[in-house]
Amino acid sequence: MQRRPGFPARIDWTKDAAPAASLAPARVRREAPPPTPQGVGLDSAAVRARMVQRLAAAGITAVPVLQAMGNVERHRFVDTALVNQAYEDTSLPIGLGQTISKPSVVARMTELLLGAQCARAGGLGRVLEIGTGCGYQAAVLARLAREVYTIERLRALHEKARENLRPLRLANVHLILGDGMLGYAGGAPYAGIISAAGGGSLPPQWCEQLAMGGRLVAPMAGVDGRQMLLVVDKTPKGLEQTVLEAVHFVPLKSGVV
Ligand code: SAH
Repeated sequence: MQRRPGFPARIDWTKDAAPAASLAPARVRREAPPPTPQGVGLDSAAVRARMVQRLAAAGITAVPVLQAMGNVERHRFVDTALVNQAYEDTSLPIGLGQTISKPSVVARMTELLLGAQCARAGGLGRVLEIGTGCGYQAAVLARLAREVYTIERLRALHEKARENLRPLRLANVHLILGDGMLGYAGGAPYAGIISAAGGGSLPPQWCEQLAMGGRLVAPMAGVDGRQMLLVVDKTPKGLEQTVLEAVHFVPLKSGVV
């Protein structure tokens, strides 16, 4: 596996941007100020480190989650035109009417997943993500779970995620094109299931495919239609549900398009 730079890492973004430097004459006139770094292009690690500080200030305490958020280059998962917003705490369009969740929500859901009973001893084992989208959440999970199965129903996004993830060479991420409403039996049982799309009820397959001691984190519409973050723990006594804060996720839909 390719070694990724640690956190906080300083990456030499100038390599591609200024190849002409080595061709420049030896005596360079120095009056002109150096070009001002624009957006995140020149030092994304610093911008990401600030994002991580904000996540910690907002209550994310799990160090592995903060490290993973600091490691994954979110700007690589959004369109070029949105790169400057990549480290703001905002959801962004990824095409086909879908969105990449805002960093605070990704961190929050990931931290909740790590709280699964069966993750406490030896870390997260196999995880299923419903709604691959651009692949960002899967890349974060890949740093925390042994295996990540991520399923997407829109072929174009499934392909886009594959492209986005390719350079990261994450051997433990399995991209599946399919209807996540049925879960994905191929990787079950899961220590954690996380959904990036919200429905009105819990598909029974999700709970069936959860390991004992496993945890499901998903947005779910309540009776008043308001979407809330739901945590379901599979215990020997049965399923234990906890309803948390209000959230805004794209709808869970059936079928593969
Ligand atoms: N985790 C993603 C967020 C993507 S938005 C990211 O980091 O970018 C949610 C995604 O869920 C959308 O791409 C949508 O197409 C997908 N989705 C909705 N219903 C689904 C289903 N039944 N099965 C699989 N994916 C689904």
